Amino acid sequence: MLKMGGGFNLGKLFGIQFRLHYTWFIIFLLITVSLSWQVFPVSYPGWSQSVYWTIGIVTSLLFFTSVLAHELAHSLVGRVNGIPIKSITLFIFGGVAQMTREATKASAEFKMAAAGPACSLVIGGVFAIVWVLTRGVIEPVSAMALYLAYINVVLAAFNLIPGFPLDGGRVFRSLMWRFSGNYQRSTRIAARLGQGVAYAFVLGGILIMVFFQEWIGGLWLVFIGWFLQNAASASYRQAQWQEAIHGITASQVMNSHYTTVPPNITLKHLVEEHVLPTGQRFFLVADESGFKGILTLRNIKSAARPDWDKTPVAQVMVPADQLKAARPEQDVLSIMAEMNENNINQMPVVRDGQVIGLITRDNLLRALRTRTDLGM
Ligand SMILES: [Zn+2]
Repeated sequence: MLKMGGGFNLGKLFGIQFRLHYTWFIIFLLITVSLSWQVFPVSYPGWSQSVYWTIGIVTSLLFFTSVLAHELAHSLVGRVNGIPIKSITLFIFGGVAQMTREATKASAEFKMAAAGPACSLVIGGVFAIVWVLTRGVIEPVSAMALYLAYINVVLAAFNLIPGFPLDGGRVFRSLMWRFSGNYQRSTRIAARLGQGVAYAFVLGGILIMVFFQEWIGGLWLVFIGWFLQNAASASYRQAQWQEAIHGITASQVMNSHYTTVPPNITLKHLVEEHVLPTGQRFFLVADESGFKGILTLRNIKSAARPDWDKTPVAQVMVPADQLKAARPEQDVLSIMAEMNENNINQMPVVRDGQVIGLITRDNLLRALRTRTDLGM
């Protein structure tokens, strides 16, 4: 899964947050300049400068709208099939949809992965029709439509290359998963294939530079290969890791060594009497009437330090009604998915209405690391 930091929000569509990564501007500029300066003037001499630039900019914008539509197709089909999508980010190599959990059924993954390239093919077809209709009538519009038809077909074809994490790799994984029933193993094979594809891109880029002196095109392939290699390796490691923690339950990694503190003590009191002497990083907040919430170092730091002596614990804790609880027998993968989905960092483990332990993101990762280090 890709993490994209940096960039800004464009707004929401169908409940999905759209974001532009900073690197997007580089590619937008490159495409606009190459279209307005080279592609269109070479193929269609005789337009005025302002027409080259207007058509160049509009074509670029429509191209990125096409990329967005591709990602949106993944997202909407994913959502219908039970894979919620949080955000879509456009960056230098295209778009990334951020899923909050992976597909749990091979058929869902197949439909979701195939939806993007299918959408690009449809868009390509629509532009091809526009091209046919405007050919010989309005040249700038037909030129733009032809380019967009072509680039959308290229987009579909590129994404159908069967190396994970490209769409084709996901389609490939879903088919393998469907027939073998083994999700993690299918992911590992698809990711290895993705690494192979990535190296082929790097090699192809180098060969193009050496033999054809196509520096920009060659370098571009090398960059894409490098990016794919990173993503494929990350997917491989993730699959390996998921295999390792498969079957581990909340009760095995939860922390049951915590102190219960009353809601009315101040943060200063808490820090001086409990946090510093024991090194504990989270606390259960409860009074005679029962469980009130939980409190981590992060919550303490949310209050300015000068205010610690007048801020009661209850004011900064995560109250019980905002907490999602985990069951002791719940597996940790689904707990992590729930944490991601709800943007939370901690979950109490509850049995028969009683808190029997706490799981925080940090302590979950630490517990899992310890088990892996011990070879468990
Ligand atoms: Zn796609």
